[in-house]
Amino acid sequence: MQANGNQNPVYSEEEKQALSEKVDQVISNKELMVVFQPLVSLKDRSVFAYEALARNPSGVFANPPVMFDAAVAVGRCGELGRLVREIAVEGCTTHPIFLNIHPDEFEDGWLMQPDDPIFSNADRTFLEITESVPLKYSDICHSILREIRSHGIRLAVDDLGSGYSNLKYISDLQPEIVKLDRELISGLTKGTRLHRLVKSIVDLSVNMGAKVVAEGIETAEELHAVIDTGAHFGQGYALARPAFPPPEAIWPTFK
Ligand code: C2E
Ligand code: MG
Ligand code: MG
Repeated sequence: MQANGNQNPVYSEEEKQALSEKVDQVISNKELMVVFQPLVSLKDRSVFAYEALARNPSGVFANPPVMFDAAVAVGRCGELGRLVREIAVEGCTTHPIFLNIHPDEFEDGWLMQPDDPIFSNADRTFLEITESVPLKYSDICHSILREIRSHGIRLAVDDLGSGYSNLKYISDLQPEIVKLDRELISGLTKGTRLHRLVKSIVDLSVNMGAKVVAEGIETAEELHAVIDTGAHFGQGYALARPAFPPPEAIWPTFK
């Protein structure tokens, strides 16, 4: 089957061998970089933090989900994640940093290495756990998260509202941050049913003790509508594209 960033892609042995070589090329030659996208306060327009997003400049993999799927398939997801974190933490020293963690990274102990960059920067580190991939071995996962959080590292549930929604994540993981997926934000206009839905999800998240980031804001209109939902932070092309070095946010002008 073709790898396309979907849930649990299945590969033939030949495909696996080819993937293994590609993953090895990326990891061994460090053919990786990290770009940063600001999370912007919707109250005072300041940059609150930056999300680190992996890039493979040599083009071995088409996009980050495909690269991480390949690393999972060949058992090197933890190693890849660690490398990305090293580059990310070095590349953003001025603000809190949001790091995406693939659920498989909980399985192999990489996150728990005492010399992991997350521990030397614990008080400015947020880990994003996507809710679009189920957390397997949830007991192990929870105990790792407890240990990590005891160091002061905070959690964000990523992609809430994407295909495989699971609101229970918010009560299970008790994240400090909930990130609403672009599926909820795209085309958002005040006064619509979608707008009422997003507003309710923001209220629910706040009631559960989390602050809310709206992701994938592409237009001034979406930004306007997002502000009206009570979300705390915004992220998206309308404010800044992911870039290196960490870019400034530019507030769009409303017509
Ligand atoms: P994500 O964590 O939800 O990241 C947001 C994605 O939306 C990023 O895609 C970002 O470039 C894109 N984006 C930002 N603003 C906009 C916008 O206004 N409109 C649209 N259409 N898209 C926007 P990217 O960088 O291709 O990453 C895709 C996914 O790959 C990420 O989704 C994340 O799940 C995964 N990923 C990226 N970097 C890493 C990493 O270092 N580790 C892990 N485990 N996963 C990563
Ligand atoms: Mg993310
Ligand atoms: Mg997301």
